[in-house]
Amino acid sequence: MVKPIGPICNLDCEYCYYLHKEELYLGNKSWKMSPPTLREYIQQYYDAQPAGVQEVTFAWQGGEPTLLGLEFFRHVVELQQELRPPHVRVVNALQTNGVLLNTDWAQFFREQQFLIGLSIDGPAELHDRYRYDKQGRPTFPAVHRALKLLRDEQVDFNTLVVVNRHNGDHGRKVYTYLRDNGVRFMQFIPIVEQRGIGQHAEGNATADSTTGEKRWDDRVSSRSVRPEQLGWFLIEVFDEWIQRDVGQVFVQLFDQTFGAWLGHEPSLCVFRKQCGRALAMEHNGDVYSCDHFVESEYRLGNIQELPLIEMANSTRQREFGVAKESTLPQYCRDCEVRFVCNGECPKNRFIETPGGEAGLNYLCGGYRMFFNHVRPMMELMVAEHRAGRHVSNVMHRLRGRVVPAAQRSPSADASSVGRNDPCPCGSGRKYKKCCALGRD
Ligand code: SF4
Ligand code: SF4
Repeated sequence: MVKPIGPICNLDCEYCYYLHKEELYLGNKSWKMSPPTLREYIQQYYDAQPAGVQEVTFAWQGGEPTLLGLEFFRHVVELQQELRPPHVRVVNALQTNGVLLNTDWAQFFREQQFLIGLSIDGPAELHDRYRYDKQGRPTFPAVHRALKLLRDEQVDFNTLVVVNRHNGDHGRKVYTYLRDNGVRFMQFIPIVEQRGIGQHAEGNATADSTTGEKRWDDRVSSRSVRPEQLGWFLIEVFDEWIQRDVGQVFVQLFDQTFGAWLGHEPSLCVFRKQCGRALAMEHNGDVYSCDHFVESEYRLGNIQELPLIEMANSTRQREFGVAKESTLPQYCRDCEVRFVCNGECPKNRFIETPGGEAGLNYLCGGYRMFFNHVRPMMELMVAEHRAGRHVSNVMHRLRGRVVPAAQRSPSADASSVGRNDPCPCGSGRKYKKCCALGRD
């Protein structure tokens, strides 16, 4: 993952974990990746690929990469072609807030077969809660326009929704808004801001700008999705999807989940046993262990001094990746959905298990609830697949059997389940030892 303009962005999203990375490069004169660094990176990235690889994917992120202008990316494509090993197909993925997109960008993306990730948190009333510009103005009109542009210009794109405290009770609403506007590929990423870590230090975290709400709960910011809220959000999306959209709409988490039920290890780093292959590179060629660990202690080196491949294969980086598995609490090792969850991302592992062991994922309750909820449907889908039929058959088999998500209001469930009651996720454990973990 490359940051060709570092953390520089034209928006000021309240939960952004990257804006404050400017502090790593105090006194920096230019955030734009220089032509020599760009060339060096592309060459080294090709050199670092396994022998015989047929497709190489470059991932451009920010900050906001479109601030570099179209000419920068035209030059990227030229360099990629100039340096490309024979028989290698190049794919570019670019994550954007969409605000600067116009027809020229869209045509370029289509012609060059870029895969675009568009950040959008749902319809206006949900999106505009945390995603605003430097003047504090809402961004939904521009982002909605970008969505329609990408769709109508037939650009390959997916949407990235940050599931937060504000949109977290509206999974179905977010999903149907995207689906009904022609989105076919979706990602849902939970936001967890641990107290005292990241952009919003405790000192300036007094009250929310619009609601006056306290910014910090015990352990997380008041923007962070609650574990159980995430569980219900994903269940609502899943229940809508499984009844009418299988084979038409692709949700990354559901693909990963289905793959795991088929016996494959998930490909997404957060659900893999180990991680460490998703390095992040800053505009000046500094390489870090992961996009979520762009901090001086996780800096592996600079591509002008050390080949990328050496950094990727270094002992430090291997240890970083192995730690995801070796630090997993026993509670996770014994978990019935470990094969698909694997303790999720280490950055979120800061609560204790019921037995008092440190290092349980803050979102555990939500993921456990979701994975247990989808189990019977996953088993049906696997049966269809193994019988040589399309998994979308599951929609016919389930007709009338799925309880519509709307009947299970998150607030009703949260208040009606006692801490010693059986957990509503169906795990068989007490609520307090299952989905209630991580709740405040
Ligand atoms: S720390 Fe988290 S986000 Fe980073 S590579 Fe590991 S699992 Fe992925
Ligand atoms: S659901 Fe919870 S207990 Fe199970 S593997 Fe994930 S984080 Fe661990």
